[in-house]
Amino acid sequence: MLRIIFLGTGGSLPTRNRNPSAVMVNREGELILFDCGEGTQQQMMRAKTGMMSLSSIFVSHFHADHFLGIPGLIQTMSFMGRKEPLMIYGPEGTGEFTELFKALGYFNLKYEVRGIQLKPGDIVEGSEYVIRALKTEHSIPSLGYALVENPRPGRFNRERAIELGIAPGPLFAKLQKGSPVEVNGRFVKPEDVMGALRPGRTVVYSGDTRPCESVLEASRGADVLIHDGSFADEMADWAQESKHSTAGEVAALAKEADVKKLILTHISSRYTDDAEPILTDSKKIFENVIVAEDLMEIEIPYIKE
Ligand SMILES: [Zn+2]
Ligand SMILES: [Zn+2]
Repeated sequence: MLRIIFLGTGGSLPTRNRNPSAVMVNREGELILFDCGEGTQQQMMRAKTGMMSLSSIFVSHFHADHFLGIPGLIQTMSFMGRKEPLMIYGPEGTGEFTELFKALGYFNLKYEVRGIQLKPGDIVEGSEYVIRALKTEHSIPSLGYALVENPRPGRFNRERAIELGIAPGPLFAKLQKGSPVEVNGRFVKPEDVMGALRPGRTVVYSGDTRPCESVLEASRGADVLIHDGSFADEMADWAQESKHSTAGEVAALAKEADVKKLILTHISSRYTDDAEPILTDSKKIFENVIVAEDLMEIEIPYIKE
């Protein structure tokens, strides 16, 4: 299972219907947060995501709308008796900021919270996936992230295995796990009965940024690109100055990268009543796009072969 839950989709200012930035990925029950704006823990309650399976928070940058939810969240999990460590990854400053979050107010943190600074290209290894830090272009040190699943084993060709004299049962399992099997004095190798490796899924999260090269490269063929879509095209000058992106700019990037789905988030408060201009400007260039909304959930299936 790979599900994306949009907990906060607002821009720098929260609005009545958009919380500040937070995107949760639920991968096989493991919860990973990308940014954690103010109020994220209550959004987790509203979305019924649970909290204790949260393994790590990847912060794109230390503007308040991306991290203010962390102190409250770590204190809540301490009250609730969490014992497992929590990792906080992010750009330069992550170690120091994490120590501040832990020291804020009077309370006893009852589990380990560790801040780990990443630089572009660094890789965090998960179980059957990696998360790679991407160089992005914002007004302060910042990172984007690409979650890339490991390739899956190819399909097992049962008929072929039987033809080769292998009896269904434990020997099938052995081949499926990648070990050769001996029958009648000769070896059958896994590649004799397994198809080619099948690609896993890729989700890219840009954080706040101008459209940039490393996000484009990481997004080539990606299943989902979640990108800063702060403004419609009418605000191009301001997007450039404030180091954000317009819908049209991101749509062009998504088209060039040939992503399967583009999801725009970090929607400016000027579109509180109507985000239609953002959707319209992106659709002119790239059809498969949606504008994220708070508590929206999307399941990412494997591509059909
Ligand atoms: Zn922001
Ligand atoms: Zn920012």
